[in-house]
Amino acid sequence: MIVARQKPLREIYQTVLGYDRVLVTGCNTCVAVCHAGGSKEAEVLASLLRILTIQEGRNMELAHTGTSRQCEGGEEFRSLLEAADWADALVSTACGAGVQYVAERRPDKPVYPGADTVILGGVTERPGLWTEKCQGCGECVLARTGGICPVSRCAKCLLNGPCGGSSQGKCEISPELDCAWQLIIDRLKALGRMDLFEEPAPLKDWAAGRAGGPGRVIKQEDSCETRTHE
Ligand code: SF4
Ligand code: SF4
Repeated sequence: MIVARQKPLREIYQTVLGYDRVLVTGCNTCVAVCHAGGSKEAEVLASLLRILTIQEGRNMELAHTGTSRQCEGGEEFRSLLEAADWADALVSTACGAGVQYVAERRPDKPVYPGADTVILGGVTERPGLWTEKCQGCGECVLARTGGICPVSRCAKCLLNGPCGGSSQGKCEISPELDCAWQLIIDRLKALGRMDLFEEPAPLKDWAAGRAGGPGRVIKQEDSCETRTHE
């Protein structure tokens, strides 16, 4: 899931100063799970902005709406786009992709981010704690690493670890952080697959992910093909 956190209220307020009618749009998928940008958070944000405008004697109307996903079309999404007719500007509390998806479909309206997207491939460890597990590298190596991702969990993205900084199972960048490669070794040992560790990792095609430019995936019958540089 994507994990985001709401931007500071004052920062959002500054971006919409000068508009008469502002619509805050929530997304009820990932950013709702992490309580950063669902419909409920959009409603609260609209109320807080309204209070600020009243306190400062400004004349700005605020409304809020939401949709299941701001990164996918559909009936609900079309309603959101129609609701934008009323507004001079939008604040979207979706992830960065959702903000852009709305902005591309309403090019006549400014759409401002209400959240900072911090993790793209995260999991919920427990309520209130999300951790990064995948960076969408485009060529998954989990089969060789006991299901633990060195790209997202090793501070150096090492494919043949650990580095010399690993100490007592912790990463050199923080005593709080498990060394990803120690976790990988422990897991491979438990699985009886240390042969995978002893074999050097083959060269990885980093261009299959972000390093190759903006990704584009086209469904072709029963397979997906990723293209870069549209
Ligand atoms: S190896 Fe790549 S695709 Fe697989 S979990 Fe890690 S970042 Fe994601
Ligand atoms: S100590 Fe472990 S996790 Fe940290 S950079 Fe080195 S190999 Fe990666």
